Amino acid sequence: MITYRCDGCGAALPEHALRYTVKIDVRAAYDELEVGLLDLVREHRQELIELIERLKDKDPQEIEETVYKCIRLDLCPSCQRAFIRAPLQFHPEQGARETEIDIDEFLRSLGYGRHSTDEET
Ligand SMILES: [Zn+2]
Repeated sequence: MITYRCDGCGAALPEHALRYTVKIDVRAAYDELEVGLLDLVREHRQELIELIERLKDKDPQEIEETVYKCIRLDLCPSCQRAFIRAPLQFHPEQGARETEIDIDEFLRSLGYGRHSTDEET
């Protein structure tokens, strides 16, 4: 049985309960790179040696994370609402207002989250 825990507040997310997944790709971004003829014929060996020298004592994971990092979160409905309101100021302990809409009930009425083992009501 796969059980999940909310990455925001730490609450256990029971099997078949509504949960949200957040996937964040953090990538180094540059404007389009223009490669000219001079770049192709330039001697890169010394540059590479210097680069390796600069990086040799660094933590490989830290180096990788300066280029790309994928963050994946599982959130309970309360943390999901707090997250989408302010992703960069997400503080799960502040919670979120309850909404008027029971989205779990709505999604289940559309057939989401239903399992063959669930009893029809
Ligand atoms: Zn939560």
